[in-house]
Amino acid sequence: MNSKTIDFSKFSSIRIGPIVDVALIEDDIIPQGCVIVGSANNLLVSPTPPPLMILSKQYDFIRIEGNRLIIGAATPGGRVVSFCKKNDIAHFEYLSKLPGTLGGMLKMNAGLKEYEIFNHLIAIRTQSGWKQKNEIEYGYRKTSIDEVIFEAAFELESGFSHERLEMFAQMRSNQPREASAGSCFKNPPNDYAGRLIEAAGLKGKRVGAMAFSEVHANFLVNYGGGMYADALTLIDEAKKRVFEQFNIELMCEVVILK
Ligand SMILES: Cc1cc2nc3c(=O)[nH]c(=O)nc-3n(C[C@H](O)[C@H](O)[C@H](O)COP(=O)(O)OP(=O)(O)OC[C@H]3O[C@@H](n4cnc5c(N)ncnc54)[C@H](O)[C@@H]3O)c2cc1C
Repeated sequence: MNSKTIDFSKFSSIRIGPIVDVALIEDDIIPQGCVIVGSANNLLVSPTPPPLMILSKQYDFIRIEGNRLIIGAATPGGRVVSFCKKNDIAHFEYLSKLPGTLGGMLKMNAGLKEYEIFNHLIAIRTQSGWKQKNEIEYGYRKTSIDEVIFEAAFELESGFSHERLEMFAQMRSNQPREASAGSCFKNPPNDYAGRLIEAAGLKGKRVGAMAFSEVHANFLVNYGGGMYADALTLIDEAKKRVFEQFNIELMCEVVILK
């Protein structure tokens, strides 16, 4: 089985992690006992992670088949948007502001407000074959998917919207510019993780080079050279304080590989 060496302090969006060999998935052959990595935009990788695997370039493709859009799970969101723009396809404009590959987005049911990747999904293909959307449980930033996704089929509708593209760009104008993994915690029902972290006095709280951003408290940012242990200290502190003060259990949105 082929592998590739990845330096997670450069590859991951939060710029933390070790240099490790990651097994390459080719021809649908999945190595045993490995955790799948997409493009690490939602990951915090410890210095001693479990064995990891990643899809090869074979899974980076997008094509129209009849009334469906078929997308490989290693395809970056930006490529999907470019394809949809060129071919006047609707519903994927928000991916322009969502860093990641299709596989990571499906696993996380990634999205912006009510625009989520499951909205126009038809089915995913894994080692057990095609699985229809109604066979998968999904909700806000979660799914029951426990297999490696190879590709997925989506409804094909015409009408790429430049207005929506602009709307999503506006929504993102207040995000921190430093390295991060996006939102650190999921929003609890009827509340916002950022509001709770701020109310618990942790907005701007810094440990080493890691901090809850001054711009948006739910973004755990790396000012440069941030360490895994410092990130965990802040995550634990936020969970503890928010629970003590508001009796609310914050759930991590960022996936921690330890
Ligand atoms: C600046 C910034 C802003 C962000 N804003 C948003 C936002 O608004 N909304 C949002 O939803 N997310 C947001 N995110 C998080 C991120 O964009 C999404 O979670 C995205 O889906 C991650 O994709 P990835 O390929 O990087 O996955 P990874 O981070 O590599 O992995 C995420 C999860 O998916 C699993 N996974 C990866 N590939 C596969 C596969 N092929 N099959 C099965 N499981 C797989 C991994 O095991 C892991 O559990 C943001 C991140 C950043 C850095």
